[in-house]
Amino acid sequence: MLVHIIPELLSVKTRELFLKNKAAEPDLEMGIIRTQEEIGRHVRMLTHEIKSTLGRQTILKTTLVELGRTLTLEECALWMPTRTGLELQSSYILRHQNPVGFTISIQLPVINQVFSNNRAVKISPNSPVARLRPLVGKYIPGEVIVVRVPLWHLSNLQINDWPELSTKRYAVMVLMLPSDSERQWHAHELELIEVVADQVAVTLSHAAILEESMRARDHLAKQNVSLDLARREPETAIRAHNDFLAIMNHEMRTVMHAIIALYSLLQETELTVEQRLMVETVLKSSNLLATLINDVLDLSRLEDRSLELDLRSFNLHSIFREVINLIKPIASVKKLFLSLNLALDLPEYVVGDEILLMQTILNVAGNAVKFSKEGSIFVSVSVAKLESLRDARALGFSPMPSDNHFYLRVQVKDSGLGISPQDIPKLFNKFADSQSLASKNSCGKGLGLAISKRFLSLMEGHIWIESEGLGKGCTTTFLVKIGITERPK
Ligand code: ADP
Repeated sequence: MLVHIIPELLSVKTRELFLKNKAAEPDLEMGIIRTQEEIGRHVRMLTHEIKSTLGRQTILKTTLVELGRTLTLEECALWMPTRTGLELQSSYILRHQNPVGFTISIQLPVINQVFSNNRAVKISPNSPVARLRPLVGKYIPGEVIVVRVPLWHLSNLQINDWPELSTKRYAVMVLMLPSDSERQWHAHELELIEVVADQVAVTLSHAAILEESMRARDHLAKQNVSLDLARREPETAIRAHNDFLAIMNHEMRTVMHAIIALYSLLQETELTVEQRLMVETVLKSSNLLATLINDVLDLSRLEDRSLELDLRSFNLHSIFREVINLIKPIASVKKLFLSLNLALDLPEYVVGDEILLMQTILNVAGNAVKFSKEGSIFVSVSVAKLESLRDARALGFSPMPSDNHFYLRVQVKDSGLGISPQDIPKLFNKFADSQSLASKNSCGKGLGLAISKRFLSLMEGHIWIESEGLGKGCTTTFLVKIGITERPK
């Protein structure tokens, strides 16, 4: 029976084995497929964790933690190149925090082997690269593999605190299996580690770029703050200056006007000869002081460029008559003949800065009165003719006629003290007074002409003085751009 049964059993067993083998084949295939899927899943999970961290330090730590967890490692560490590039330093160790900072030479054959290979390499557990913790007792580490992590070339970026990134270098990642297990590295694990090493390298370079752009952004933000401050500083100074001027303008002029008004009233009352003399002196000095205050304030406003034209329609004829009325009292005291000639074609209503124009006329006509002891003063006003514009061109002024404007020509001729030829070029400088002029005829402060010149340049005009010499009188002429307007209803 047995003789018959044994071959039967054997054939059954053989068949069973054959069937078993057959059944195992798809399992094997399934196993391979599963392993690949698993690697893919692990890589996705790992790189997601790694990429979601932004800082380079965190990327490296996260990599070690995730690899340690996924592959159940005894130890996992990173050797980073030092600044000199001649050594590697154990910079990140997963389990054994202290001591980090061992260094090994980059010349070691094992390092050469790792650097020249883009695959994970199995190395001896006794290699210096695997020595991540101090040797204690009979500690026998598990199987060790190492893989290089390229630190990408970023020479076009300025990586200040990590200069090793600016040249092509590698870090070395060490992965160690548990010491007391029989576990060995599997091919799919090595594959996973290689992919992760590459992903870490890419993420590191992204992080470096991101860090650099964040640094650049911070730097720009800081620069913007200081620029803003620098811009505001002069603005604040100008505002303070303007406020000061506005206050001084109002307060000083008000006080001066009050003094002059009160003394004028006092002058009308009954006074002894001495008292009258004293009141007249006070009035004269107050008037001088008032002019000086006006001049200084106007000059400051001109100098800080806070003075802007106030263009309005006004009666041009009236302001000349007003100026004549203002200087007439002094002229009549000095027995000067004063004449005003307004050309027949002179428009009555025009557009311009009435105040600036009036002040300019007053300065020029005032000088004629001030610097004449006897004789006459002729004020002639006209629309500038071509030859007059040509005269001005010769003096460096370029008038630009247009349909809405004309050039007003004002000429004040006196038969007074005159000016020596060498003084003429200095007259429009600030403080061109008796101290600096050869003629020594001035009793003013040398501001009126300087101010007038600036007023005129603001109004697109020009001024010049002619004199035959000392004692031969003087002619002051100015041109100013004036807007044409309809006579207001
Ligand atoms: P101020 O009259 O306050 O001294 P100005 O700037 O108006 O200042 O004039 C500067 C100088 O030019 C005067 O000091 C004077 O010497 C000279 N000057 C101006 N106008 C005349 C003029 N019509 N006749 C003689 N000298 C003049």
